[in-house]
Amino acid sequence: MSGFNTLAVHAGQHKDPYTGAVIPPIYQTSTFIQDGINVLRAGHEYSRGSNPTRDGFQTQLAALEGGAAGFSFASGIAAEDALLRAVLAPGDHIILGADGYGGTHRLISRLHRKWGITSSAVDITNLDAVRAAIRPNTALLWVETPSNPLLGIADLAGWAALAHEYGALLVVDNTFATPYLQRPLDFGAHAVVHSTTKYIGGHSDVLGGAVIVTDHLHRGESLAEAIGFQQFAGGAVSGPQDSYLAARGLKTLGLRMERHGCNAGVIAQWLTERPEVGRVLYPGLPDHPGHALAAAQQRGFGGILSLQLADEAAARAFAQSMEYFQLSVSLGGVESLVCYPREMTHASLIGTALEIPANLVRLSVGIEEPEDLLADLERGLAAARTAGGLAKLAAPAGRQQVAAAR
Ligand code: PLP
Repeated sequence: MSGFNTLAVHAGQHKDPYTGAVIPPIYQTSTFIQDGINVLRAGHEYSRGSNPTRDGFQTQLAALEGGAAGFSFASGIAAEDALLRAVLAPGDHIILGADGYGGTHRLISRLHRKWGITSSAVDITNLDAVRAAIRPNTALLWVETPSNPLLGIADLAGWAALAHEYGALLVVDNTFATPYLQRPLDFGAHAVVHSTTKYIGGHSDVLGGAVIVTDHLHRGESLAEAIGFQQFAGGAVSGPQDSYLAARGLKTLGLRMERHGCNAGVIAQWLTERPEVGRVLYPGLPDHPGHALAAAQQRGFGGILSLQLADEAAARAFAQSMEYFQLSVSLGGVESLVCYPREMTHASLIGTALEIPANLVRLSVGIEEPEDLLADLERGLAAARTAGGLAKLAAPAGRQQVAAAR
């Protein structure tokens, strides 16, 4: 079996036999000429059902995740929605990691609830709590690791063992880690979801999502058949241009993740030594509670970290005062971004038990030169100091908030 970077460059990427073009053409077409009624030339009929550019990307990503099949959608949320519709039925219950993307909580608690789906949020780091939350009608366990934005680490093998014991599906959102750092299917998960908008696309220029599945049979049907049919019948597919951009990004994923991880490691360590910072949440730091687990189940620690400043004023000032760390939602592009999750990506959790601490800021560390990023962070910390003072003195409050949010 070829290695990661070889598969990333070649899997699913069929060279053009007509011109010899090294890069497969973008099949920007809605329909395909038939050689007779229902006689399809290369298996393609209509691009909602299949399109060679989308197929190439799906094969490439499934190969990297070690899955039986992959399906690509118009966004990460569209991929999640398609997966849930394909495998659930009214009356089913979901166990959902409490620390996770706010949009996933919103999708389940606001949209799927209308169709008779219920869910319970659990601490992703506590397998006893996961077990205790399982009900007779629990059909699916959903976890994100590392989690967004608290960077918690879930024990993938432990979650998978519970899913198998209770006959439920385990779905892992692998957006933060990517298949380069972690392959959840190898630990027993049944499906992986991605926002390919993030590291897979890698350049903040495309929206997309994907589901990758094993050959597991669920309620008498293979997961691949169920999700393939949902993709075709529901229609939230990724278009040819978007599939091409995602496939192009995926070819360099391994190289980019190495660099993101190096930069994030340097920055995380540097931030721990700063008096303006109460706590740095990064699984690569030895004092992170999930450090040993992350070291065991991941190839590296990734490019996302969160930090807690003295208070809300300090966090807001920090987030709005840098040049290279641009204030923006999303993550995983080559450029560095800073986000205030409580009111940006996770605003839907305000007022719930899962709301994000007000002094927390998330960084998506890009591939720029580390010394330039540190100089930029120095500017951000100066603004935080002016607005909110030093956090080391005020740290206990922030720490308790994170403990509560976990
Ligand atoms: N999963 C995670 C971990 C995310 O961070 C996001 C978006 O931020 C999504 C899913 C949703 O993906 P999209 O924005 O592509 O719909």
